[in-house]
Amino acid sequence: MNSLAQIDEPLDLEEVGKIIRVKGWAIKSDTETLGIYLDDILLGTVDPFIDRTDVSKGFPGISKPTGFDQVVSVPEVPDGRLHSLTIRSDDDHSSRTLSLRRVKYGDFDSLLRIAVIDMSRMCNFHCEMCPAHSSKANHRSGRLIADQSLINAVLPLLKNPRYRIRRIGASAIWGEPLMNPMYFQNTEKIASTCPEASVSLYTNGSFLTESNITRLLDLECTKSITVSFDAGTKENYERIRKGGRWETVIRNLSALIGERRRRGKKIPTISTNFVVMKDNFRELPVYVKRMADLGVDVIGAVNAHSLYSSDMDQGVFDMPWRTNDVAEERERVLQEVRAIELPPGVSLGFPSFVPTRKSAECSFEGASRVLVDIDGDVYPCCVIQSLNYEGHPDARPMGNILKENIESILASRQFTDFRLKMLQREAPTSICSRCPFFYGM
Ligand code: SF4
Ligand code: SF4
Repeated sequence: MNSLAQIDEPLDLEEVGKIIRVKGWAIKSDTETLGIYLDDILLGTVDPFIDRTDVSKGFPGISKPTGFDQVVSVPEVPDGRLHSLTIRSDDDHSSRTLSLRRVKYGDFDSLLRIAVIDMSRMCNFHCEMCPAHSSKANHRSGRLIADQSLINAVLPLLKNPRYRIRRIGASAIWGEPLMNPMYFQNTEKIASTCPEASVSLYTNGSFLTESNITRLLDLECTKSITVSFDAGTKENYERIRKGGRWETVIRNLSALIGERRRRGKKIPTISTNFVVMKDNFRELPVYVKRMADLGVDVIGAVNAHSLYSSDMDQGVFDMPWRTNDVAEERERVLQEVRAIELPPGVSLGFPSFVPTRKSAECSFEGASRVLVDIDGDVYPCCVIQSLNYEGHPDARPMGNILKENIESILASRQFTDFRLKMLQREAPTSICSRCPFFYGM
């Protein structure tokens, strides 16, 4: 069989910079090499490592991984013009083009896609596993809400045509965003500065009052709202999410779903989240049934980070070097979850609990994301930010936007090396090498 390949990203006519992330699938014959070219310049060879079930369905005899996701660096080529990005198969006698994208080359940072802006470090809850507010947390003192100086310092990133920010988390990293009295004004300002991006909100649900629901649904930019649960029963909810009341959050979530339905809308997507821990994983089936009854769009879960004093050893996931001591029971519980019949329009958003690579970067998209915390410190993710609270030597911020401009922080050697290393599937820090998200979970 001759080699086949397809470039999924970049898209046709997309703007790219010196580093291009190329994603797609390829089936290689034994005698051919697959090269990635820009015009006639060979940039690298295709190296599939992802199991793509969509591809294997079309080619049932193929058992090897077919998906690839890799970065190539471009030597100097003329700016502002269209160039051909191709995958070609080369053997001793000929060269064939298997896939082609026309790309516009310029001074773009096309790797960065997601910005998370911390709106609040205040919270009315003290969840068991929270690295900022639980009894075991080492919470640093600092500012409590995002004021105008912080928001204004982020805007240059959002309006700079060099970047392609497509998703904005106008949320809180370890706090309740709706406790910031300026939440709606800040979000509108951010969204109008970057109108191509979709905005998401994570909330503990306690401030989803009638007037906040109206304001949230009036904000056209908000495309997804996620309410945290971490339990399926009142007893466990109130034990884990200390300060929260089960009846209140259920009532608020129902009101949000009801008001969106009354408006005849499908957007924002309404999801729930469950941090899966040894302490609560047995409750996953009852959580799924309860949320399905309420009619949320996506019943979500995420692995506990299992890296802080507040959640250490709480993870139920396996690591490449060890199987979790609750693995058998976990699999039984997950089987029970998969057997639940969900109503039409309701889906599960569960992570993997065993190492599974679906992308070059971690499942938190640590190479595509920039996070600005409430003090202006810039990190690739909340795991590193949270370990900074605990004084971990590798958990330093990349810079601070209240002291330096964000463009120079993003272009710094430290940040660029972090992102490139991750996209080359190497752990950029000792934290990543112990993080479940690094292994695709
Ligand atoms: S709601 Fe979020 S920020 Fe508040 S205590 Fe719980 S985990 Fe922490
Ligand atoms: S793998 Fe690294 S970048 Fe990704 S979430 Fe974990 S610590 Fe953050």
